[in-house]
Amino acid sequence: MQNTTITFKDLSISEKVLAVLEKNSFITPTPIQEKVIPLGITGKDIIGIAQTGTGKTLGFGVPMIERILTNPDGRGLIILPTRELAIQVDETIRKIGYELGIRTAVLIGGDSMFRQVKTIKNGPDIVIATPGRLIDHLQQGNIKLDRVTTLVLDEADHMFDIGFAPQIKEIMKKVPKNRQTLLFSATMPHEIATLAVEHMQLPLRIEMAPAGTSSANVEQEIIVVSRGSKFNLLVKLLGETDPGRPVLVFSRTKHGAKDIAHDLRNIGITAVEIHSNRTLGQRREALEGFKKHTYRVLVATDIAARGIDVKDIGLVVNYDLPEQTADYVHRIGRTGRGGKFGKAVSFATPDQKYDILAIERLIKKTIAIKSHEGAVMGARAEKRPSYRGGFRRSSSRPSYAPRTSSGFGAKPSYGPRTASHVGARSYSGSRSHAGARTSPAGARPGGFKRSGPRTSSGFGAKPSYGPRSGSIGGSSSFRTGGFRKSR
Ligand code: AMP
Repeated sequence: MQNTTITFKDLSISEKVLAVLEKNSFITPTPIQEKVIPLGITGKDIIGIAQTGTGKTLGFGVPMIERILTNPDGRGLIILPTRELAIQVDETIRKIGYELGIRTAVLIGGDSMFRQVKTIKNGPDIVIATPGRLIDHLQQGNIKLDRVTTLVLDEADHMFDIGFAPQIKEIMKKVPKNRQTLLFSATMPHEIATLAVEHMQLPLRIEMAPAGTSSANVEQEIIVVSRGSKFNLLVKLLGETDPGRPVLVFSRTKHGAKDIAHDLRNIGITAVEIHSNRTLGQRREALEGFKKHTYRVLVATDIAARGIDVKDIGLVVNYDLPEQTADYVHRIGRTGRGGKFGKAVSFATPDQKYDILAIERLIKKTIAIKSHEGAVMGARAEKRPSYRGGFRRSSSRPSYAPRTSSGFGAKPSYGPRTASHVGARSYSGSRSHAGARTSPAGARPGGFKRSGPRTSSGFGAKPSYGPRSGSIGGSSSFRTGGFRKSR
C-alpha cells in the first residue's frame, strides 16, 4: 500500500485539503489514490478497478471534496451497496471534509427516515446513500439530485449482484448529465461496462491489478469437508490461529450465520453475527465490538460484510463458498491489509469442485487444497473426466499437502447558497465553520453562518423505510475426479 517516493503533495491537491490529510496522518498515497486523485481533480470520469482496503474512499473522496470547495453550489453523491460501507465511507469523508465545512448525510435503510429528512434539510454537501433508500427519498420528494456535480458508484459490481440495477438506472436519470462520474468496482462484469458506456464520458480506466485479483498478502487454502464436519473444523482452525487477531467467518445464509455464532458462544468463544435480519443498531454494535476485540469472531453474510474494514483480521474462513464467485475476492480482501499477512481458508463440500474452479479462474491462481476427515471423496472421482487436466494425487505428493500453487432535495432551497430549486430541498445551505472552506469570490457572499436550516440545494423528502433494499488432512484427490456442482 505504501509508495516510497510520492506523497499527497504531488497529487495536485489544494493546500487546505493537504493540511487536513496530513493532520490525519495521511502522507503517502496508496497506488489507487496516486492515480485517481490527480485525474479526478481535473474532472475526468474514471473507472477504478480496486478492491476494498486499497484506499479507494479517499481516492474518490479527495477529488469530490476539492470540487465542492471550488464550486460550493455543487454536490457530491456516493451510491454504495450496504449500510456498513456507507457508515465507513462517511467516517472517512468526514475525517477530511468536516474541518473544511463539508457536511454529509447518510441515507441508508434501517435507519429513521425522519432523522434522514432532517439531515437532508440541513443541506449536506455530500450524500452517501444505498440505492433503495435514496429512491424512497426521491419518490417522497425529500431530495433532489439536480445539483450533483460528482457522482460516485462504489462497489458497483456488488450493487448489481444484489439486484440494485433498476434503482441505479433510476438514479442515473435524476442526476444532471453534466457531472463527473467515478465508478469503483472489484470486478468489471458486462453490465457495469454497459453502464459506463451509457452514462460516463470517455472514462479512464485505472486498474491496480487485474479484475478479480486477490490480495498478495493472503495465503489461501481450501479444505474439502463434509457439511457435518464444518463446525469442528472451524473450532480447530480457531485453536490454531493467533488469539490476538480477529477472525471473520462467512456464512452463505443468515440462519447459518446465526447458528455458527450461537454454537461458538456455546463453547466459550466470543462471537457475534451480522446479517440483514439484524437491526442497524445490532449490526453497529457487532461491528464495533469486533473492532474493539470484544468479539473474537464475527460471522457474516456477504451482503452484511461488504463494508467491513477492520484492521488486523488474521483469518477469514469461508464456512460456505460464496454464491457469487466474485465475492470470494471481496471476502478474502478483509485480511492481509495494510501490508500485514493474512490467511483465508475456504470450506468446500466434495460436490463443489466446479465452484473452486470458478474461483481459481477468477483469481488466476491455483489454491492449495487439503481435505478434512470425513470428506467423502474418491469414488465418483474415478468415473468422471478429470478436472483441470486431471489432478491425480501423485505418490510424491503427500496427502493433505498443499497443492500449491445540490442538490439533493425536494423542497425549495434554503439558505443563501443557492438561489432556488423549485420544489426541492437541496443539500446545501449555508455554513459557517471557522476555518471552513473559503468560497471563491462571489460564490458565497458573506460567509455563511450555519444557523437555521441549511437546506437548499442539493439533496433533500417523507418516510419510507428499509432498503429493499477433525484433523486437517486428506488427499488432494478432490481435484482428480468429477464432482457435480450441486447448486
Ligand atoms: P478503503 O479501501 O478506502 O476502505 O481504505 C482502507 C483503509 O486504509 C482505511 O482504514 C483508510 O483509513 C486507510 N487508508 C486509506 N488511504 C490511506 C493512506 N494513504 N495512508 C494510510 N492509510 C490509508
